Amino acid sequence: RFIAFEGGEGAGKSTQARLLAETLRARGIDVVMTREPGGTPGAEAIRALLLGTEGEGWNPRAEALLFAAARSDHVERLIRPALAAGQWVVCDRFVDSSRAYQGGGGGLSDVDILALHAIGSEGLLPDLTVLIAVSPEVAAERLARRDGGQADRIEGRGAAYHQRVAEAFARLAEAEPARFARIDGDGGKDATHARVLAAIARLAGP
Ligand code: C5P
Repeated sequence: RFIAFEGGEGAGKSTQARLLAETLRARGIDVVMTREPGGTPGAEAIRALLLGTEGEGWNPRAEALLFAAARSDHVERLIRPALAAGQWVVCDRFVDSSRAYQGGGGGLSDVDILALHAIGSEGLLPDLTVLIAVSPEVAAERLARRDGGQADRIEGRGAAYHQRVAEAFARLAEAEPARFARIDGDGGKDATHARVLAAIARLAGP
């Protein structure tokens, strides 16, 4: 089984991905927990290029190509082999982040992003994508507690960019209800974790 977590900044998806991996392991499931961009040495090197705070960053097309390249290495070397070995993969962000950030935020078409994904990763999609949705107020409050460099990079893109990202995620979840579970993340982490567990019950498993 392949489960991805998605959401905007401050949604708490990394925490929820980790909690889910812990719960699945406690149930005796062999889980690989990974993140995007990253997950393999090559993809982590691309992550450093993308998320470094130096310089002016990348234009949306270059950004989309770099994310697709990182994802390709991650899928080929880590995700597909783990799935083939019968492990569950829990991934913090996947292609829907590119559709929301470089697409919704950066203005690239969904068709172009999916084309890059087809080339890079043969179009692999999660069995379930958990979208953690939070109100802008809650996201802002959580971000205020993050370290300076990361908060600066996020803020540098502007509120309108993040608004478009959130709208794009919501549209994707609406368009593919069979793959997406949209979960309210405004509450505490335990309440959200309970909602995540209810959502993954739709994946038949041991
Ligand atoms: O830790 P987190 O997953 O939130 O950080 C990854 C960062 O990379 C986010 O700030 C997000 O803005 C950015 N990102 C992006 N496009 C993607 C995936 C991540 O801009 N496709």
